[in-house]
Amino acid sequence: MAKYTSADCRQCRREGAKLFLKGERCTTKKCAMERRPVAPGQHGTGRRKPSEYSVQQREKQKVKRAYGLLEKQFKGYYDEAERIKGVTGENMLFLLEKRLDNVVYRMGIGSSRAQSRQIVNHGHITVNGRRVDIPSYSVKKGDVIAVKDNKKDNELFKELKGARIVMPKWVEFDTETFVGKVVDNPERADIDLNINEQLIIELYSK
Ligand code: SF4
Repeated sequence: MAKYTSADCRQCRREGAKLFLKGERCTTKKCAMERRPVAPGQHGTGRRKPSEYSVQQREKQKVKRAYGLLEKQFKGYYDEAERIKGVTGENMLFLLEKRLDNVVYRMGIGSSRAQSRQIVNHGHITVNGRRVDIPSYSVKKGDVIAVKDNKKDNELFKELKGARIVMPKWVEFDTETFVGKVVDNPERADIDLNINEQLIIELYSK
């Protein structure tokens, strides 16, 4: 029988949304959400109407899983978002987007957030010329993000050289020099995950 999912793909199927956890595979027909978009397990195709709480909970899980965060870390972002002026839900997403591992992913340096996190963890990335190996590091507009000079020939970046990468307009990355820049702050429309952040606000406001 065809094998549809890995553990990552099961997370997408559980949340009923593409979370883009497996790099290139996510944009091909091999994606489990294209082939079998139902929740995993015996009752995956069941029709039971979910409660309001479970819908809110699922939305939170979706965002947590997409960015690869634990509950405590995620709640930390929510709390911080509440303290910032503006719309809490959007603030939360902007804080998540500005994590260094996510920026490395958005620039196309890593093919998934998980791989990008590993790239940062292994010390392959510099911010404004200084090595930063903290995936949660929050970038700012104007920051220069680059692959460390002595890592540019690493096998990891073999296919990056000269590649054409589609990236959101708030970041730039040159695949010849392996140097990029955070040219702006992200906007809500730049976040391509199908998220209803209001549901998360409702959940945490209970
Ligand atoms: Fe798997 Fe990626 Fe498709 Fe999710 S989006 S089901 S991780 S291939």
